[in-house]
Amino acid sequence: MSEVADHTATQASAPSEDVPLIFLHQVERHYRQGEDTLHILKGAELAVWPGESVALVAPSGAGKSTLLHIAGLLEHPDRGDVYIDSRSTALLSDAERTAIRRSDIGFVYQSHRLLPEFSALENVMLPQMIRGLSRNEAKARASELLGYLGLAERVTHRPAELSGGEQQRVAIARAVANAPRVLLADEPTGNLDPGTADRVFNALTQLVRASGLATIIATHNMDLAARMDRRVTLRNGIIEEMP
Ligand code: ADP
Repeated sequence: MSEVADHTATQASAPSEDVPLIFLHQVERHYRQGEDTLHILKGAELAVWPGESVALVAPSGAGKSTLLHIAGLLEHPDRGDVYIDSRSTALLSDAERTAIRRSDIGFVYQSHRLLPEFSALENVMLPQMIRGLSRNEAKARASELLGYLGLAERVTHRPAELSGGEQQRVAIARAVANAPRVLLADEPTGNLDPGTADRVFNALTQLVRASGLATIIATHNMDLAARMDRRVTLRNGIIEEMP
């Protein structure tokens, strides 16, 4: 594992321990629906430090996906700001936001979204090659990550030849392939049976701790949430810490 952690540390600039890697500050978001305005986020505050995993547990419709999209710079908040490693993103151009998203943020979704015509290895290599790594460098990193996630025997398989849990572990490897600082996951084990969800979750949390990522995972699963460093919920558009 230390190799995965070292690799991550050498690719990203060294994170400072005393600032959060991601900080949502007074984030507001509303949607217009006909005559009405839905106020989904009303000043949400959330800071996540390096190596820290935070479970976001809230009922459907509370705004978890909205919060993750804003945290991942996929959507703009109506007010407030998202700081990535102390850098304000509010006034950045779309190109600058995209560059930060590509280099610093990894996403895992409920469905794996792997490319069906490519092998597990190729799916993890592709984002690295898009960022400019050579084929050999990308292959070495992809093999190492898939091996770490227990998929050494599956690297040549296409997604359709993998189980749901294996597909999701490939998606995790792909999300961290470019050594992001922040990992955002939206119900990553939502489609898996409890035993498989447990194994995927273990792999994810081990990777987070070993590589110093800051992670926010939206989940309905309280057993899994209980194993993360912190739990928060969204109540009336505000983030509240849970015991
Ligand atoms: P969760 O992930 O907690 O289920 P979401 O963030 O997906 O919640 O959605 C929160 C609320 O915002 C829901 O009521 C949803 O219908 C509404 N919503 C989300 N996206 C949009 C949109 N693009 N336009 C209008 N309403 C939206």
